[in-house]
Amino acid sequence: MKHPFLDLGEVNRPYRDELAAAALRVIDSGRYVGGAEVEAFEADLSRRLAVPHAVAVSNGLDALRLILRAYKELGELADGDEVLVPANTYIASVLAVTDAGLTPVLVDADPHTMNIDTARLEAALTPRTRAVMPVHLYGRVAWDESLAAFVRRHGLRVVEDAAQSIGARHASGGLHGSVWAGALGDAGALSFYPTKNVGALGDAGAVLTHDARLAAAVRALANYGSDRRYHNLYAGLNCRMDPLQAAMLGVKLRHMEAENAARARRAAVYGALIDHPAVTRPEVPADGEHVWHQYVVRVAGGRRDALAAALARQGIGTDVHYAVPPHLQPCYRGRLAHGPLPVAERLADEVLSLPVATGTTEDDAAEIARAINGIAL
Ligand SMILES: *Cc1c(COP(=O)(O)O)cnc(C)c1O
Repeated sequence: MKHPFLDLGEVNRPYRDELAAAALRVIDSGRYVGGAEVEAFEADLSRRLAVPHAVAVSNGLDALRLILRAYKELGELADGDEVLVPANTYIASVLAVTDAGLTPVLVDADPHTMNIDTARLEAALTPRTRAVMPVHLYGRVAWDESLAAFVRRHGLRVVEDAAQSIGARHASGGLHGSVWAGALGDAGALSFYPTKNVGALGDAGAVLTHDARLAAAVRALANYGSDRRYHNLYAGLNCRMDPLQAAMLGVKLRHMEAENAARARRAAVYGALIDHPAVTRPEVPADGEHVWHQYVVRVAGGRRDALAAALARQGIGTDVHYAVPPHLQPCYRGRLAHGPLPVAERLADEVLSLPVATGTTEDDAAEIARAINGIAL
């Protein structure tokens, strides 16, 4: 492949020396679970994202599971309570809800933002609705004043899935003042899976919250349910972040803004140059509201796979996020509550992700855009 979709070696190569120094620091520290590296990373995260509590955990799915479990332990959520979740998402958002014994209620996507359609929230509400889980998919903030008004009106909790959106902002801020994705609602989950905008060298995630009680419950649940040494308040889990990953992430976090800005420049090249009758470019929201975890175009009329194949023949890698929505996966088919989801189902047939990470230069993006324009579909 001349233009691979994603080369993680390239993503980390610019930071090779910084990462190596941080890894040596951990090796020499003799501290391989918890400790100063993890605490420093949590403090860094909480300062950068203007949120009072950050808890470093094992991965993004666990971050979501821990938030929901903690709300149950605190008596704010109970078995069978309903959580409004976008139908167009990675399956982990839904897995977290069912794993916690809660009921996901799928809400169709807005075809322009590809995120949860906030105009459909009111119709999805039932007496069991207790929470909303906005997913800032592809790096685009899923937040607007109507969502904020909806959750305030009905006293709902907001748990954000910010796995794809670290560093994205909503200019007027969320429920508790922070403008940062993951800190707009009551609690948010981050993923540092290696492909994410801030990627570890393995699995890692974090919980962000404005609620000190929730943070304490998450921290205990992630550590066998122990709130102090050999005292188990909850029947908990082991979902801690390794200090080695915390050290890697301390390096990566320093470069978050520059990395996201570079993604935005590549996205701008695509936005300026892609001009094909069958290809719809993604909407570009206000500055900072999109961190381009994926640059996702839509290809109409069942021609998505043909375009991907034609690009592959020219050495250009693409990917599909996601070809099968959660409600049509074998584990959930026929088992989730939802009305018709025509937008999410159409997106699954139309979306195509173009290379946008480090390793793809702006010149590469221009070449890829011209290749798309030259393909007869
Ligand atoms: C990656 C991702 C997750 C899960 O994160 P992991 O760290 O891989 O467990 C959850 N939700 C979304 C939208 C994701 O993209």
